[in-house]
Amino acid sequence: MAKKESVDSNAVAPTSCIGEGCKKKPEVAGFCEEHFIWFKEGMMTKMGKKPTDFDKKLINYMKRQKKAA
Ligand SMILES: [Zn+2]
Repeated sequence: MAKKESVDSNAVAPTSCIGEGCKKKPEVAGFCEEHFIWFKEGMMTKMGKKPTDFDKKLINYMKRQKKAA
């Protein structure tokens, strides 16, 4: 039972994905797996918000997914 106290630079680690309205467990960089993909695709900012051109990016992303399938 080791007590780990990391009160260093960053404040508190998020207990859920930082994506808006997402309650999943964070996997990478504070995002859940799905939202981390969104972040990589530019469909989510690192603050967990959708960018203004989210719709366009989502359409492009889905097009690419279809091609890959
Ligand atoms: Zn999420």
